[in-house]
Amino acid sequence: MSIAVQHALDCFIRGLVKRNPGEPEFHQAVREVAESLIPFILNHPKYHDAHILERMTEPDRVVIFRVCWEDDNGEIRTNRAWRVQFNNSIGPYKGGMRFHPDVTLSVLKFLGFEQVFKNSLTGLPMGGGKGGSNFNPKGKSDREVMRFCQSLMIELHRHIGEDTDVPAGDIGVGGREISYLFGQYKRLSNRFVGTLTGKGLQFGGSLVRTEATGYGCVYFCENMFEHVDDSIRGKTVSISGSGNVAIYAAEKAHQFGATVVTMSDSSGFVHDPNGIDADKLAFIKDLKEVRRGRISEYAERFDGVKFHADQRPWCVPVDVALPCATQNELSGDDAHVLINNGVKAVCEGANMPTEFGGVHAFLEAGVLYAPAKAANAGGVAVSGLEQSQNALRISWDHDEVDKRLKTIMREIHNKCVGQGKTDNGVNYVHGANIAGFVKVADAMLAYGIV
Ligand code: NAP
Repeated sequence: MSIAVQHALDCFIRGLVKRNPGEPEFHQAVREVAESLIPFILNHPKYHDAHILERMTEPDRVVIFRVCWEDDNGEIRTNRAWRVQFNNSIGPYKGGMRFHPDVTLSVLKFLGFEQVFKNSLTGLPMGGGKGGSNFNPKGKSDREVMRFCQSLMIELHRHIGEDTDVPAGDIGVGGREISYLFGQYKRLSNRFVGTLTGKGLQFGGSLVRTEATGYGCVYFCENMFEHVDDSIRGKTVSISGSGNVAIYAAEKAHQFGATVVTMSDSSGFVHDPNGIDADKLAFIKDLKEVRRGRISEYAERFDGVKFHADQRPWCVPVDVALPCATQNELSGDDAHVLINNGVKAVCEGANMPTEFGGVHAFLEAGVLYAPAKAANAGGVAVSGLEQSQNALRISWDHDEVDKRLKTIMREIHNKCVGQGKTDNGVNYVHGANIAGFVKVADAMLAYGIV
């Protein structure tokens, strides 16, 4: 990086931190993007002169509200919820809701900012947003979750709509929560429209939406391998998480002939050197989606499996790593361990799972490294397809949606290659950041000073 670029980057980040104090995740996400964009913007005066990056790092609006609900013991509980409507230049706001005790405004601004670029990369007309609450669904009864979701929607419904803002799921918000949220939205608005995605198939959901993020991540990984005349077939794969993204990434990797040897949750990881096959994955789906149990039970159920409490899976030597749990779950040190063990590809199913030092280590080592905004865009892409089906009042079959998902992931890959080609291969980070940026920035320029 030249001195001029470094200076421009430092000045920009200093201003961002001053304007957004105490928001480390947001600073991290913007810094990662700004490292790619500032050299590009300096070479393109139309973006530079219009201060487009300053404008794109300021959300259109943030709604913050109280959510009161009654638990099973009749106690009144109070949580905080947010909806960050980040940028609607290329379509209605679109992005998930996260329910987790660690949710803060900083986390949701980082996720909303990333979502703007990701949604742009899909080629679909979707702006970026994100929302959530510090509510912890773990250990709550179905009725408590229902009462919380209904109370949250009493406020949220004023701010969303099929042409305004279309929320979906994320950590802690799966099919159960989306059903409660959509049911309440329908009651309050007296309209049956596609204002949420990830809905049940009986009431407007799309086939393949549940699988889309995990499947899309593996499709992207295979695209990266194909680009260097290789394949995921025959490779060993470590996956973190055992939620929605992780389960379907494992399913597709197995279907593609890879051997998945780890999965995890917030209590630790399991290492199964024999591979997690379809039957074992069915056990994990039941464990996590129905019984809401802990991943350690997998080690109790199957022979030859070891559970490592309070550890992450990156110490296991593998060809491919798919971080699919949460942000900052793969440190710089973890990246060096993976690199020293010969990892060939890292493809992010979770949002910003790799810390800054890890990203740089992968890029310097020439690992095929796919950042989240490209690799996990399959989920929001199929949410976009769900919106299209709702608007048309039709349902496409499984093969049709899966075919469209594959095509979208391939096109995202090609956009990354187009903008990220270097003398030593493809820098997918720069490729994704620049390709995602251009469409949104051009729309903002066309609107004038907005
Ligand atoms: P999920 O179904 O709630 O699963 C989350 C998984 O991550 C669980 O196994 C959870 O373990 C684990 N986890 C959560 N916090 C953790 C922590 N601090 N340390 C270690 N493990 C942790 O959520 P998901 O939908 O799969 O989302 C996972 C990631 O993918 C998130 O970064 C999300 O933003 C991203 N993403 C999701 C979608 C989507 O369509 N769902 C789309 C794009 C991106 P516990 O059960 O122990 O908490």
